[in-house]
Parts: sequence; structure tokens; C-alpha cells
Amino acid sequence: MSARTAHFVVVIATGVEEYQAQLLRGMTPPLEANRLGRVVLVDRTDVGTLSADFLRFLRRARPLGVIATHLWRPEHLGDVLRVTGELELPTVVVGSAHPDVTTVRVDNHPGMRELMAHLLDERGIRRPVFVRGSLHQIDSVEREAVYREELTRRGLPVDEELVIQGGFVAHEAHRRLWDLLQRRRDLDGVVAANDLMARGCVTALAEAGLRVPDDVVVAGFDNERESVLWPPLTTIDQALSEQGRVAVEQLLVQAGGDRRRQTLLVPSRLVVRESTVPDRSSPQQQLETALQMMETSRAYVAHTDALANVGRDMLHIRTLDEVVEALRSCLNWLNVRRCFLMLREELFGAEDLSTLNTVGLTEAELDGSPMVRLVLDYRDGSSHAVDAAPFPAEQLLPGPLQSQLADGLLVASSLTLGTRCYGYLLLERDLADTAFQDTLYVDLTRGLDAVSQQQALQAHATRLEETVERRTEELRAEVSMRQRAEQQLRSANRELEALVLRDGLTQVANRTGFEQHLERHWSGTGRTDGLLALLLIDVDYFKLFNDHYGHLAGDQALREIAGCLQNAALRPDDMVARYGGEEFLVILPQSGVTAALTVAARFRAALQQRAIPHLHSQVADVVTVSIGVAVGKPEPGVDPSAMIAAADKALYQAKEGGRDRVVVTEWVTAIELAAADPAC
Ligand code: GH3
Ligand code: MG
Ligand code: MG
Repeated sequence: MSARTAHFVVVIATGVEEYQAQLLRGMTPPLEANRLGRVVLVDRTDVGTLSADFLRFLRRARPLGVIATHLWRPEHLGDVLRVTGELELPTVVVGSAHPDVTTVRVDNHPGMRELMAHLLDERGIRRPVFVRGSLHQIDSVEREAVYREELTRRGLPVDEELVIQGGFVAHEAHRRLWDLLQRRRDLDGVVAANDLMARGCVTALAEAGLRVPDDVVVAGFDNERESVLWPPLTTIDQALSEQGRVAVEQLLVQAGGDRRRQTLLVPSRLVVRESTVPDRSSPQQQLETALQMMETSRAYVAHTDALANVGRDMLHIRTLDEVVEALRSCLNWLNVRRCFLMLREELFGAEDLSTLNTVGLTEAELDGSPMVRLVLDYRDGSSHAVDAAPFPAEQLLPGPLQSQLADGLLVASSLTLGTRCYGYLLLERDLADTAFQDTLYVDLTRGLDAVSQQQALQAHATRLEETVERRTEELRAEVSMRQRAEQQLRSANRELEALVLRDGLTQVANRTGFEQHLERHWSGTGRTDGLLALLLIDVDYFKLFNDHYGHLAGDQALREIAGCLQNAALRPDDMVARYGGEEFLVILPQSGVTAALTVAARFRAALQQRAIPHLHSQVADVVTVSIGVAVGKPEPGVDPSAMIAAADKALYQAKEGGRDRVVVTEWVTAIELAAADPAC
């Protein structure tokens, strides 16, 4: 053994069911004697290549040797032999003939000859049916050959109609025998190339009203668990555990340096049970058999129950922790000794799960070994704390647990669905426990698949949410920017508008502002149900004021006059405007003569109080004004300038009358209304 060689052998199989369990049981004593562990790699996929991770594991781990059993596809065996050939690893193939390597398989002849002698000579059978497995499968071919030879040797004819094909499965054998029974009833025995098909035939015979073994005897091949169901099957034991033992011995011989290729045949032997001989056991013996069968069934049901529970749990699973817990909780029930669950790194938060698609990729196609994390370390009835650091899947176990591979028997199964590999399960259980089923792997994988789908959906939803949020934020920013811009524009417009409509010197409305305001109250956009009063104000002898005090003092006087006017017209709709030069206008909507005179009086009082000196006025020694008032009813369609003209006329009269006074005129088009107003 070189220093680089690991202290375990690798067995490659399609599962660890009855057949492989028996082989493995036979391997145990010679391996244990040499302190060698067993790692079973389960070939679970029916695709072009064996798991690339497993092949890499073989290269990396350099086991003492490799025992390959029947695999799903011939290419898979080719993959294994290529690697073992390259590395010159001791290799034995069990169960099938192969030209390039040492093979161990059953010798079909001794058992088959014994069986034919039992049926033809002891039981007096004359027309036995033979149920083939498949046409070219070597065991099926050999078993059929013995069937023919033994009939011929006794001078019995081989009736070709009695040779049917069952494909090694129960339902096919059942259907073919049923068809045959529709045509003829003269057959007296059935020899099937395996137990499963024999079991299918027992059912077909019962349906046709024929009793086993009284009317027709039935025999199978393999001595599998099914052979002890009722009626217990006469069968041929292919000495699987012996094959396992021989395979290990051959491996050790090769490891010792003897690389001669050999074909080793392990003799089969007949096991006679009640399907070919009437049950002559005593009632006590029958009771014991029945009790034994009950006990087996009870254990089987307990296992099936535990497995069904896992299946049920997986239906409601949402997180990886729940998957691990569902698995952990069934391990005691299933008598599992060790269990390590490794999950692919992508399941822990990666958004893109497409990289899980590694099933069927060759070693070359797989870009580096996928990373996995240990999530369950179960030994001796309890789970241990796990180090979640990722490690390459081709190691099977993280560094500190590598020694577990060389200890006892670990079955490594990849958890795959379609082309996706979710991780690996390494498990040690009691090989005598025949109830263990593949459903555990299937359920576990389904659970992981559900979680990964959930994660993918969640990630997608989160991405969508983030996009929507970001976009909303952008839109919000855009909107607020636009709103701010609009606000600025509006206030700029307002300012501009105000500038356009205001008189620069006095800050009251200018002529345009006045006209707009009047128009609003005239055309109906303002209230038009009442009267409207207009005051036209002109400063008396203002030219003389300017001449004497200067223009700047004149401007100041105008500002003060405007201020007094604004303090006199108090209602919200009232408006003071500079009409031009030293003339002002006041609009008083909803106002009659009384209101106009009140405003005029209030203004003159304020101006009087100001007492702006005017030495050259001919009516007073302070600044005074003359006011013309027009009152009327605004009428859409009538030109409002007529009302201004009326006010101007009244102003003229005030000037003529001696200045420093108020003259009220009635606007011509509203004479009646004005007259009807008792205030006028
Ligand atoms: P009357 O009593 O008949 O109204 O006499 P008056 O001098 O006030 O009338 P007139 O129309 O002859 O003169 C108006 C004067 O108002 C002429 C001008 O000097 C003065 N004026 C007009 N606009 C302004 C102004 O913006 N600033 C100043 N300081 N004076 C102005
Ligand atoms: Mg004037
Ligand atoms: Mg004047």
C-alpha cells in the first residue's frame, strides 16, 4: 500500500438495496480484518456520465481499490474504469462480465441444474414455462440455456410457446403469463429468471384460478426479500455475500501487486420453499413462520412510517434549517448510525441558482469542483456542531471529518433533481435492515428543490421591490424638482406681474393694474350684483408745489398721498391706482355713494393730518386734493371708460368749484339705479 493510498475501498452501485446490501455484507469481514473502510458511491442518474464530483473524488482520494457493480449505463462503468485505469487502482467488477478487468459473478449453472432436477425429477413437472429477463443479458441467457439442456437431457420437448419474456420486472411477467393462460392451461410449472418475475407469475396464476404449488409450481432466482412473502418462493441463491467476499479478496490480491485479470464464478445453490412443494409443516411451525413474517412486516411498516413522515414534513418546508431538522428527526427511527449532509454553496443566498445544474457534466465540462457546506453531522445518536466553511464537493467531507471515510461503511448519494445537484448525503445504516428505501433521498431532494424555488422567487421579488423603490424615489425626486421649478416660475411670474401692474414711484397699482381690476368687477368675474364707486383724485396746484419744493419733494408728496389713500380704502376688493401724473383712482366694488364719501372723507382727514406744507397753494397752506366720484351699476357690454369720464367730469366740477372738495356725479347709464339708492 503506497503512502498516498487511502484506508478505504470505494464501491460504486445504483443504490444500497437488497442486492447491494448482501454484496456489502460479504465484503465486511475481509475489509474489517484489514481495517479498511467502505465508501459506497451511489450512481443515481440515468444520464451520459457518472457524477463528475464522484470521479474527481476517486482521483483525489486514491482509495485502495474500486469495486463496481451493475450501474445505470454501460458508459458509467466506462467512466469508472477510465479513472481506475489511469491511476492504476485495483479494480473488480461484480455481477457482469467485462473483458478488461477482473470480474466476479454468479455461476448460474449449479443452482439452475439443481432446480431443474428438483422440478422435473422430484416434482414430475413436464411442461414448465421459462420467463426470461431480457434477450441478451448474460445471466438470463445462461439460465435459459440450462432450462433447455435439462429438458432435452430427459427427452422432454422444449415448447417455444412456453418461453416468454418478462424484462426482469413483475408486471411484465404477469402480463405475458396471463396472455399465455388465455390460450392454454396445460402448463404445470414456471421458472423465472428472477424472483420479481416469479412473484408476478404467482399473481397471474391466482387470477386465472390456478393454485401454487398444487396446480402449477413456481420458482425464481436471486433469493431476494420478496421470496419470503406468501407463498415463500423456491429460488436460487446467487451467493451475493460470497461474491462480495471474493471481490474484496481479489482487490487485496491486486493491491498486493498481482494484477492478473481473472473471471471468478461463485456457485449458485437451490433454496426449496413452498412454491414448489406443498406445505407439510406442522400447525406449530406454520404459526411460527407466520409470526416471523409478522415481525418482519412490523419492522417494515415502522420504517415506511418514518420515511413517510419525512415525505410529509418536506411538503411544508420553507427553509434549509427545516430540511435539516426533518432529516435529523427521522435518523433514530431509521437506525442510522452516521449521517452527514452537505449542501451546495449556492443554496446559501446566491441569487443565480443556474450553477446548480451540474448533473451530467463531464469532469472537463465542470469548471472546478462545486463548493458545498456541511449542515448536519450526526453520529452516535446525536448531531454535532458543524463548521459551515465551504469546501470542494470532490472531498465528500470537510477536512476534519475525512477520517470518517476510513471507518465502517458510508453511502454517498448525490441529491439531484433533473440536472440540478443540491448536495450530498453520506449515511451509515444497518445493512441487515432491508426496509430502507430510496424515498428518503427523493423526499430530501424535493424539500431542497422547494426551498431553492422559494429562494429564487424571494430573490426575484426583492429585486423587483428594489427596482420599484428606486424608480419611485427617482420619480419623486423628479416630481419635487419639477414642483420646485414650477413654484419658482410661478413666484417669478407673480413678481413680474406685480411689477408690470404696479406703479414704481408710489407702489400702488398702475393704470394697467387698475384697468384689469375694473374689468374683473365689470365683466362678471367679480360680484356684479351691487353698485361700484370710482374716485378720481387730483392734487391741487401741484405744478406750483413742484416748482417751489422741487421734483423730489413732489415725488415724496405723491408717495404720502398714495399711502393715505391705501389706508382709506380698506376692503379686500378696494383698489388704489395711480392714474398718471398727480392723479389717482380708487375703485370700490360693492359700494354706493355713502361708501365713496366715507372713503373720500377718511382720506382727506388723513392727508390733512399729514399737513404737507404747500406755500403756493391758493386754497390752503398744505397740500389738498380735489375728488370726483362716480357711482353706478356695472353692466357687461357697456364700456367702463364712460364711468371714468363721469368721474373726470365730477373732478372738473370740484376744481371749478374751488378745489379741495368732493363732487359726486351719477353715472349716466345707471341713473335709475343710482336714483333708487336711498344713499345717493
Ligand atoms: P390743478 O390744481 O389745476 O390741478 O393745478 P396743477 O398744477 O396740479 O395742475 P397741472 O396739470 O397744471 O400740473 C400737474 C403737475 O403735476 C405737473 C407736474 O409738475 C406735476 N407732476 C406730474 N407727475 C409728477 C411726478 O411724477 N412727480 C412730481 N414731482 N410731479 C409730478
Ligand atoms: Mg392733474
Ligand atoms: Mg393737479
